[in-house]
Amino acid sequence: MGIVGVGFPIPTSDKCKLIFGFYYKPLPTTGKSVGADFGMKDAYLTLSTGEKIQHPQPLKHSLKKLRSLNKALSRKVKGSNGWWWCVRQIARLYRKISNQRKDFHWQLASKLCKKFDTIVLETLNIDGMKRLWGRKVSDLSFYQFVEILRYKCQKHKRLLKEIDQWTATTKPCSTCGFHNENLTLNDRQWTCPECSSHHDRDINAAINILRAGMVSVT
Ligand SMILES: [Zn+2]
Repeated sequence: MGIVGVGFPIPTSDKCKLIFGFYYKPLPTTGKSVGADFGMKDAYLTLSTGEKIQHPQPLKHSLKKLRSLNKALSRKVKGSNGWWWCVRQIARLYRKISNQRKDFHWQLASKLCKKFDTIVLETLNIDGMKRLWGRKVSDLSFYQFVEILRYKCQKHKRLLKEIDQWTATTKPCSTCGFHNENLTLNDRQWTCPECSSHHDRDINAAINILRAGMVSVT
């Protein structure tokens, strides 16, 4: 334990985190590795352990409120009092969402660093994801999370491994390796025609991500 410096970014104004920022104590090794898959549909992050991490309720609530405010804004006459009221509400809500999201990201990154020595992710191809999913990708700000996780892993001497976006992780069966070319975006669950294993799409991908990452680690 020791002082690591004062020029160091302080995560939030939260007191405990402030102390954590100045005193760094390496976390004990756990001997565990995890693969994590970012998602849009069922969960924010799915782990190869089978755990699905959702957005916390307060953040979900704010995002919902933002959608309805945006809708209300589009119905107002531009420049009217009602229009300006909406603009102010939206600006205030954006600040709130940004803080809620930051808290969520810091907590999630801490949790992963505490539980695992090696964390494997797929390199994000944001342009491709945008084409596929629309603007929701930027709302979810995966990039911000990866940056926070990278910083935390460095501090805790954890290994953050990113596998390239061309590695097949969704279609191969994580049990037998069969490539399911018929899998579509809407198939959330599937059964392998080769070995009959039943898969949750995201958990299967997270396991494949972990494997691909571990191959290049060893
Ligand atoms: Zn199989």
